[in-house]
Amino acid sequence: MSLLDAHTLDVLRSVAVPDTRQRYGAPWFLFHRVDLHLQLKKLATEPRPNTKSVAKINLSSEVADIDLEGAISLTNGECVKKDLVVVADGVRSKFPSKVVGEGVPTQASPTGTAVYRFLIPTEKLLQDPETRPYFEGGGFHGSIARLKDARLVWYPCRRGALQNFGFFVPDTITGFDDEVWNIPASRDEFLKSVSQLHPDLQAICSKAEDLKLFRLCMRKKPIPSLTKGNVVLIGDASHPMLPHQAQGGATSVEDGAALGVLFSHLGSKDEVHRRLELFQKLRFDRVSAIQLLSSVGQDEIHKVVESAQPYFHHGPVPNGLNEYNFTPNVMRDALELLQQDCKTDL
Ligand SMILES: Cc1cc2nc3c(=O)[nH]c(=O)nc-3n(C[C@H](O)[C@H](O)[C@H](O)COP(=O)(O)OP(=O)(O)OC[C@H]3O[C@@H](n4cnc5c(N)ncnc54)[C@H](O)[C@@H]3O)c2cc1C
Repeated sequence: MSLLDAHTLDVLRSVAVPDTRQRYGAPWFLFHRVDLHLQLKKLATEPRPNTKSVAKINLSSEVADIDLEGAISLTNGECVKKDLVVVADGVRSKFPSKVVGEGVPTQASPTGTAVYRFLIPTEKLLQDPETRPYFEGGGFHGSIARLKDARLVWYPCRRGALQNFGFFVPDTITGFDDEVWNIPASRDEFLKSVSQLHPDLQAICSKAEDLKLFRLCMRKKPIPSLTKGNVVLIGDASHPMLPHQAQGGATSVEDGAALGVLFSHLGSKDEVHRRLELFQKLRFDRVSAIQLLSSVGQDEIHKVVESAQPYFHHGPVPNGLNEYNFTPNVMRDALELLQQDCKTDL
């Protein structure tokens, strides 16, 4: 990753991205959220060889309440009963206290930072001589511009056709106290806030499309358990974190993959509780540690070492987080755990 690898701005720090394919066994993918959703939906709902059934997605089904035996009540008055309830309703989840009890704080609170998110087609940036130098050459190129109280982060996605930006600013949003994702973004306010940037960066920002405003929230302490009864918490509902290590979505996908493996070869619904215990064993330390380590940048890990240490039983908190974030293979580890538990080769 390079810090503004361009002709008109100074490069302050440059970090080489390792060959992740060689080092961690997979390429470094940078997704546009919409593309990831669409592909996950396709995997879940379209028949494939060797899959017995596919998922059915019920839209417009807002959950009003759940209980630990698997009852789900919808806001439209419908009720259903399931053998397993996977709570994945995001950072403002209403249901963690079902699992950990009312006495444990589960609210994710505002951190004082908000983020303008926007996309720009790379072609549009290449057409303008002022912005072209920053986007020529293709390939992976993530950049960060730091100012006193603001930060611009960008990386390419959709095979380089789109550039994805986040502009972190102090949270001065008024109203929308309970909102995280759906806060209207004013283009005028945005352009005013980027006026402190270098003119080239302002030229880039002026082309912003699909402008959105998010409020950054985090839960200060990890919760003590991920599961109780027939209910399991995953994703931001389970471990809401800041985006400093870009691991919120990644750990959510890992949770889903772990559940997929741990709930394979299920003989009967009597095994649900045991499988959820395996999920807790596999995931608890990792998601708790990443939640805490995500509250700071890669160069500030020393600030959270003490609080993260209890989640590392076999040594100190690692200094460089890429190894910790990218090395585990959650599906392999889940399968090994399941095999050990069933004492068989599945
Ligand atoms: C600025 C920013 C940058 C980020 N960058 C990265 C990154 O680079 N890499 C990364 O890995 N992560 C990143 N993240 C984090 C990532 O977006 C989240 O961790 C991820 O979206 C969590 O997924 P989730 O499925 O748990 O929750 P969400 O994506 O929030 O999905 C929750 C879903 O539940 C639905 N829902 C809510 N309430 C109910 C209800 N009562 N009934 C039914 N449905 C309900 C919602 O409509 C929504 O569809 C970033 C986050 C932010 C804010």
